Amino acid sequence: MVDIAPGAQQFIPPQAETLDDLRAAAAGCRGCELYRDASQTVFGRGDATARLVFVGEQPGDMEDQKGLPFVGPAGRLLRRAVDDAGLDPGHIYLTNAVKHFRFELRGRRRIHQTPDQVHITACRPWLVAEFTKLNPQVIVVLGATAAKALLGPGFRVTRQRGELLPWPAAAQHPEDFQRVPVDSAGDTTDAPSARLLATIHPSAVLRADDQDKAYEGLVADLTVAARALT
Ligand code: SF4
Repeated sequence: MVDIAPGAQQFIPPQAETLDDLRAAAAGCRGCELYRDASQTVFGRGDATARLVFVGEQPGDMEDQKGLPFVGPAGRLLRRAVDDAGLDPGHIYLTNAVKHFRFELRGRRRIHQTPDQVHITACRPWLVAEFTKLNPQVIVVLGATAAKALLGPGFRVTRQRGELLPWPAAAQHPEDFQRVPVDSAGDTTDAPSARLLATIHPSAVLRADDQDKAYEGLVADLTVAARALT
């Protein structure tokens, strides 16, 4: 097990102006050891002007192969839940707390492994950098890994799911998210306040004994997010 990692910060170009600039730079990230076995970096995708941003855990097997987040079974379930909650799927941005697929090989199968805190910490600078280019009204945190990345290790999704929290005040280091660049000269302004809501990861619905009930709970939480959009 690896306890320390250099982290992603050194791979983030200070002159990056857009999410595309960040995405291109993230392709060469060596901030932790996960890049070695995964196929490629899977950066966020979607509408840069989205009012709603989803943060998940890490890419899965299919995402790793395609280079896109939320294109596997959990992503399909999330899209259905987004529709059922009355959210507009064309105006969301999707990303993950950790941008490389962590897995173990069993025979020829690649089995998902939950990222450790060291991976979450190493990759967090990409998440912070993405938020400097985004301006959401609501951030939806999907599962414990994303909650650890944004809210700190003490946050319990099971206890606080579905609650609207102030953003960035609820973040573990709110100062990381308080200012956003407003022009290419690097001038900044205070980020407008938004709200954050944590819920389960869609893969937890797929693993649940009672999938219908778990799915209903996810949709109920996303409906709270939908109502918070102005
Ligand atoms: S998981 Fe994150 S920090 Fe680690 S190599 Fe990939 S992009 Fe870099």
